[in-house]
Amino acid sequence: MKNKVQMPLKGMIAVVTGAESGIGQAIAAEFARLGAIIAINYYKDKAAAAKTLKMVRDNGSSANLYQADVSDYMQVQQLYRKVMKELGSPYILVNSAGINSTGIYAVDMDIESFDRTIKTDLYGTFYHCKEFIAIRKAAGGKGKIVNISSIHEDVAHPGGAAYCASKGGVRNLTRVLALEVASLKINVNSIGPGMILTPMNQKVMDDPKALKEAAKHIPLDRAGTPEEVAKLAAYLVSDDASYATGQTFFLDGGLKINIGQGA
Ligand code: NAD
Repeated sequence: MKNKVQMPLKGMIAVVTGAESGIGQAIAAEFARLGAIIAINYYKDKAAAAKTLKMVRDNGSSANLYQADVSDYMQVQQLYRKVMKELGSPYILVNSAGINSTGIYAVDMDIESFDRTIKTDLYGTFYHCKEFIAIRKAAGGKGKIVNISSIHEDVAHPGGAAYCASKGGVRNLTRVLALEVASLKINVNSIGPGMILTPMNQKVMDDPKALKEAAKHIPLDRAGTPEEVAKLAAYLVSDDASYATGQTFFLDGGLKINIGQGA
């Protein structure tokens, strides 16, 4: 009984995308601490993926590395074939892979950049969900999906055409899938982080003045950590969250509700 409380994900296989960096890496490590076996989906940086593998092992579990570009459906299909063969049927999927092309107004944005953001953040999430759901359906149902969205699934801002559109898409994809797979007892939710200290925010992190300025808009007066996001993800894939589906859980130090009130 004690063991069950400490290792709620024991033996569960979790596919985590973008797991070689930032939020995905923290989620892989946290899930491993709770007993899950991790399929680390990485993009280009094998050394960084190997670091995640070490974190997983240090936390007492095991993992395999799977290189795949989430924006390429054939690569995602191939990933699941390999995971099934090497680890078994995944029970958990976390879509954390993403890029942020914020800063260029739509009128000046090149089509390739818009395309790449949507293909990674939205199509990538869709491709993974599609393959994962097919596997869970064949296994008789049950399972957990967490999509890492953003406050920008809701908060629009100039220069955010590609990112806000893709995260807005993730919001509705999460809601639609939750309805489609409810009868299979698969929970589908999103986490909408605010500003989190990861390589995606490297520029601001390297500039203490800019970081302080950014924090001024956050009621809790600081950016969040990837580990804090990982704790929420761990809750959402646990049995404790069995009644939650089709929702976005914002984790932003109050930033989202502050926007429009002077932020
Ligand atoms: P990050 O840059 O540290 O991680 C992004 C990961 O996505 C990397 O591992 C990268 O290799 C992977 N990736 C990018 N393109 C890929 C592709 N085509 N195929 C496979 N993998 C690919 O940033 P992060 O902050 O950890 O971002 C994780 C998620 O959180 C993203 O979806 C991001 O939009 C979201 N998010 C981040 C913040 C933040 O402030 N950091 C805020 C809101 C939402």
